[in-house]
Amino acid sequence: MSEARSGKVIVISGPSGVGKTSLYKKVLDALKDKLGFSISVTTRAQRADEKEGADYIFITIEEFKKRADRGEFAEWAEVHGKFYGTPKAEIERILESGRSVLLDLDVQGAMKIRESYPDAKLIYILPPSFEVLERRLYGRNTDDDETRHTRMQNAVAEMKYVSKYHLRIVNDDFDKALAHLQEAVEKLIAGDESWIEYL
Ligand code: 5GP
Repeated sequence: MSEARSGKVIVISGPSGVGKTSLYKKVLDALKDKLGFSISVTTRAQRADEKEGADYIFITIEEFKKRADRGEFAEWAEVHGKFYGTPKAEIERILESGRSVLLDLDVQGAMKIRESYPDAKLIYILPPSFEVLERRLYGRNTDDDETRHTRMQNAVAEMKYVSKYHLRIVNDDFDKALAHLQEAVEKLIAGDESWIEYL
């Protein structure tokens, strides 16, 4: 590990359907010189709008288990019945390039990543209400009914972890949520932690 590097590890979590992916893609685009996205490995099926190697690396369960056994993941978790993992090499690649790292993790992964990166900062994107979340989840065509149901149940279960995050942003108005998220990430990269909502 190089001592000179100053990049931060930033985790974004939030329930499926909250608009988290659209938010962080915009932030990544706006801050691409300073921020890199850590591409996770998953055993879930690739969606039509996803690119292999850009959104995820899609692998089999056997391959996932081999990589987990070899200790290749900084964290991994089973989410909605599928496996997801963050390759250590991916985080290190981005930090070594002098940038900060943005990770999109479920709550279990967010708790675990702090074992390897204790200074990691965690941001949770909240829906305005469960009713709105349910509408958004059912309005999108990427999942079948059973998957949507599991995702909704998991969203409720996740809420007990929300207080463990450094900042919570409600995605009521997309542009406002984006401005809030981008400001927090920019400040964090610059070493300003005044945005953190301590408990
Ligand atoms: P999706 O299948 O909708 O892309 O993601 C489902 C969930 O898995 C989301 O909550 C997302 O944050 C989480 N996730 C994506 N990549 C990883 C990862 O590498 N590790 C963990 N723990 N969760 C991940």
